[in-house]
Amino acid sequence: MEKSSKKQKEIASKIEPEEVLIKWRDWNWQLKHSIQDIETFEKLLGIKFELTEKKKLEETLELFPLSITPYYLSLIDADDFRNDPIYLQSFPSPEELIISSDEFEDPLSEDKDSPVEGITHRYPDRVLFHISNVCSMYCRHCTRKRKVGDIDCIPGKEKILQGIEYIKNTPEIRDVLLSGGDPLMLSDEYLDWILSEITQIPHVEVIRIGSRMPVVLPYRITDELVDILKKYHPIWLNTHFNHPREVTASSKQALKKLADAGIPLGNQSVLLAGVNDCPRIMKKLVHKLVQNRVRPYYLYQCDLSEGLSHFRTPVGKGIEIMENLIGHTSGFAVPTYVIDAPHGGGKIPVMPNYIISWSTNRVVLRNYEGVITTYKEPDAYVKAYCDRKCGDCRLQLKLDDDATEYKGTGIAKLLADYDDATSLVPENNERMERRI
Ligand SMILES: *Cc1c(COP(=O)(O)O)cnc(C)c1O
Repeated sequence: MEKSSKKQKEIASKIEPEEVLIKWRDWNWQLKHSIQDIETFEKLLGIKFELTEKKKLEETLELFPLSITPYYLSLIDADDFRNDPIYLQSFPSPEELIISSDEFEDPLSEDKDSPVEGITHRYPDRVLFHISNVCSMYCRHCTRKRKVGDIDCIPGKEKILQGIEYIKNTPEIRDVLLSGGDPLMLSDEYLDWILSEITQIPHVEVIRIGSRMPVVLPYRITDELVDILKKYHPIWLNTHFNHPREVTASSKQALKKLADAGIPLGNQSVLLAGVNDCPRIMKKLVHKLVQNRVRPYYLYQCDLSEGLSHFRTPVGKGIEIMENLIGHTSGFAVPTYVIDAPHGGGKIPVMPNYIISWSTNRVVLRNYEGVITTYKEPDAYVKAYCDRKCGDCRLQLKLDDDATEYKGTGIAKLLADYDDATSLVPENNERMERRI
């Protein structure tokens, strides 16, 4: 039992007096009793909002629904709830009603990069497969707010089969990311079926699941679920812890089950003002994660989704956090800080600058301590000219399943020996248009 078990007992007895804690760990009970209105929230937490505030909150809920599992609610410190990181992530703020002009309903153009419903195909070799529009807890900072509460909560088999068909017919896809909503909202049987369908596709090498269940409803990670997942290895799972206080005894138990089943675990945090925009909080979080065999994967700059301006920080805050992590702690505890470019540009890593200067054979660098150092480059380096004929190259690949023909794209194309391109010119470049 975790430290807050007294509070859990209190909340459980308010929900169902006769049950007390017997059903607390039953994930279906948690879902059935998710808090979806302000009165219940007030009652369970023992707080009271003023009438004017309550009216504003109700208005917010009309735009974006409220749903908190009793478990996640039990982590809120009722005596100091206004600044509580769990409260801020799960309870509406009237500030969500403010929609600024540089915010978008679909900031990442996920729907535009969607060849069939449910699939976002943005990168060459991997796709996002949305197999659920529901979550056990509605994060107030959700980037897919537009989809939450859609009537088509969990797509039926025909819809799922359309996505699977697309993956089947697209041989370059080697990595399928199940996302949503939360894929683990699906029943064990349904998930089992989807996973078995995807694993049968010969070119799919790995399946990833993105789920916040270990954070907001850790009891979803049952032995039965884990037994299903491990039939389909390699399965990777990324979860979404934002604050060290979310790492509880129950969530640790869930992570242990997953890690013991051989599922590599990653974490994607979002930088949120008032929640985790502090180097010390983030360092504590990444340490707790690696203690539980979770590798910090990404730290996201908050997306330009509608109604999130109160959550956004300057990019400098993220750089400051990275400056406080890189070198100061274990390399595998440091996530990559990324900005997901508006309109589908994808994730762009951002970092403090470490290269100070460069000459023909020396790089001048600085380290995390501020030490300035030089790296002397080799005087004689014979590079292998690449004409994409791997069979004739002195660098041995020599794999039976020979590498597929490699095509340069983006900046990599500018660096390639086999491509004549010397520049990437944006469309509608005025200078180029004058030439015509
Ligand atoms: C984040 C994302 C991926 C996966 O990116 P990785 O960097 O491989 O984790 C794939 N597709 C879309 C649309 C994404 O947003």
